[in-house]
Amino acid sequence: MEKIPPEIFLEICIHLYVKDLYTLTLVCKLYRKILWTKAVSIQKVWTCSRVLSFDPILPYPSLPPSKFMSEQEYIWFTLLADKCSICKIKIEKKDLFGCRYWEFSRFCCKECIERKTVSISYIKMTMPNLPKELLECLPYHKRDEKLYWSDDLHSIKTKYYSFENKQERDNWVKEKKEEVNEFMDEIYKYKWQDQYVYFFPYAFNVN
Ligand SMILES: [Zn+2]
Repeated sequence: MEKIPPEIFLEICIHLYVKDLYTLTLVCKLYRKILWTKAVSIQKVWTCSRVLSFDPILPYPSLPPSKFMSEQEYIWFTLLADKCSICKIKIEKKDLFGCRYWEFSRFCCKECIERKTVSISYIKMTMPNLPKELLECLPYHKRDEKLYWSDDLHSIKTKYYSFENKQERDNWVKEKKEEVNEFMDEIYKYKWQDQYVYFFPYAFNVN
C-alpha cells in the first residue's frame, strides 16, 4: 500500500465488484480501515462498486442508502450478508430476502427472530403497566401482530425510567417518537424494494 498512491488505490477500487471490494477489506488492516470509513470519497467508491455489480435484468439495490445507513452498511445488508447476525448460521440464497429485517437493521434467521423478539400481545400480558408511549419509541416488524426486538425494548425501558425529571423524559419521548416515525417511513421504501425484486423477477424463474 505504501507504494500505491491513494488516488490510484481508489481508482482501482472503483472498478471492483462489491464481493471483490469486500474481499479487499479482508486482505489487511489498513485496507479494512480505509474502506470502512465514512469519508465521502470512500462512500463514492462503494456506490460505484454497487452500480457496477448490478445485474442488468435485476438492478438491486437500486435505491441509494437510507439516511440511517452508510453505503458500506447498505451493501453489506442487501448484497453480502448471508449468515444470521445472531446465531451465524448460513442462510440459503432463496431465503435471504425473508431474513432481512429493516425495522431492526438486522439480518437473522427465523429461529432467532422467534427467540429475540416479543409480540405486542406478549408485552401486554407480561408488562401490563408498560407505558403505551414507550412502545411508540421503538421500531417494530409487522407480521400477524407487531413484533419488537426484546433487547431494544429492555434498553429503552431502562432509559425511560432513568429520568428523574418528567419534563426531560417527555422531551426524550417526543424526540424518540419522531425519530422512530421518520425511520419507519424511510425503511418502507426499502421493504418495498425487496418485495418488488422478490415477487416479480424471481417469480418468472419458478419452474
Ligand atoms: Zn439465527
